[in-house]
Amino acid sequence: MDGSYLTTLSGASVGDVDRAVASARATFDDGRWSRMAPAGRKKILHKIADRIEAEAVALAVLGVRDNGTEFNMALKAEPGSAAGTFRYYAEALDKVGGEIAPTAPDVLGLVHKAPVGVVGAIVPWNFPLMIGAWKLAPALAMGNSVVLKPAETASLSLLRLAQICADCGLPDGVLNVVTGSGAETGAALSMHMDVDVLTFTGSGGTGRRLLEASARSNLKRCYLELGGKSPNIVFADAPDLAKAAKVSAAGIFRNSGQVCVAGSRLLVQSDIHDEFVAMLQAEAQALRVGDPLDLNTQIGAVNSEDQLARNLSFMDTVGPEGGRIVTGGTRILAGTGGTYMAPTIVADVTRDATLFQQEVFGPVLSVTKFDTEEEALSLANATDFGLAAGVWTANLGRAHRMVAGIRTGVVHVNTYGGADNTVPLGGVGQSGNGHDKSLHALDKYVDLKTAWIQL
Ligand code: NAD
Repeated sequence: MDGSYLTTLSGASVGDVDRAVASARATFDDGRWSRMAPAGRKKILHKIADRIEAEAVALAVLGVRDNGTEFNMALKAEPGSAAGTFRYYAEALDKVGGEIAPTAPDVLGLVHKAPVGVVGAIVPWNFPLMIGAWKLAPALAMGNSVVLKPAETASLSLLRLAQICADCGLPDGVLNVVTGSGAETGAALSMHMDVDVLTFTGSGGTGRRLLEASARSNLKRCYLELGGKSPNIVFADAPDLAKAAKVSAAGIFRNSGQVCVAGSRLLVQSDIHDEFVAMLQAEAQALRVGDPLDLNTQIGAVNSEDQLARNLSFMDTVGPEGGRIVTGGTRILAGTGGTYMAPTIVADVTRDATLFQQEVFGPVLSVTKFDTEEEALSLANATDFGLAAGVWTANLGRAHRMVAGIRTGVVHVNTYGGADNTVPLGGVGQSGNGHDKSLHALDKYVDLKTAWIQL
């Protein structure tokens, strides 16, 4: 966040990962959690949610010092959302059962939902507690044991969560946290022969490595939630342009753009292009960037020097590949020692430009003009990603046509970025193959087992 020393974490070796997986397997097999009555699991998950809520401020501060997210957002998105996720799955676990199949009259066909066993969860640094909870809560709810690997630059709040889980009665060994690098600790987990399912959020490059690791080890199932280059499409008939500008700015700049569903590709209809870009510019320039722990701050720090350097390298493509910087494009507040980047808007970006095609994962908005609905749809679908999208229009028919036509996991209409636990989050194409949140996420953590009983 400000370059100062915070703490030292150990890097789990291959042997440490082995011990963690063995511990998860032993507790899975002994049944203290996997065969605990649903009411017991429910009670413990609710207790965990209570404790997260009780410690919300401390957890948020811990996370902010670790990863630089602005406090106001961190409080809501991290402990706030993690507690809600534990509650949601605590309530869900005794309401999702197996099935009785419509077999022949002299046969009873039962489809059981059995826990898979040991789940390996690998999570990124942008919202460690929230995303960690998206993996942990449904996996634990279904009776699995978990080995969790946080990102090396954001492990502290998840380590604290593990202590909370133990304090709340989760049996020892059910949740194991291994800190360390992706290359060593993460790779050891992904290659492990006794991990049944990998659940991952992070970059596409790492996602590919996990699929390779699965193929080279035990063919473990891999669920991947990857990056995006999400189009946010503003038609001239948008009901409220001022609101669209405010929400669109938040949709790309909050948490310094380090949000998987960030609306990083703005597509604007020609008739309103200049007016809307000017409104966005005003919004971007009004944002207060700075110390993430200052309650007046609206945009905090970029997670690391490496990430900031990566963000800035995208600016070198502007000019050679076309495009025009409307605002930002630079490091700011360097004197504080912090890693801050000015909210950045680049207009006139063409569909083959790097900024149109690649995820920055920083506070950088690319803007492209379109004339017709067909052109908007074609531009929206012109990348390999398919995570999220936004459509601003007062025309209900057009809204539905866009929802149907845009190839993404979520399309926001006349808003951007809304979500809760009741709806799934996941992508298509190179944005991944799995969904977190909602009842659908439970399917990742069960095996279907058929009992065919001759009566
Ligand atoms: P990353 O892929 O670099 O790291 C994610 C995790 O994978 C970290 O814990 C890291 O240590 C680990 N890792 C790295 N290399 C590994 C390897 N070889 N084997 C096993 N584990 C390894 O991603 P990041 O930079 O931490 O996160 C940013 C990315 O995550 C962005 O692309 C963003 O869009 C994406 N993301 C997606 C979602 C979603 O729900 N789809 C949510 C948040 C972030």
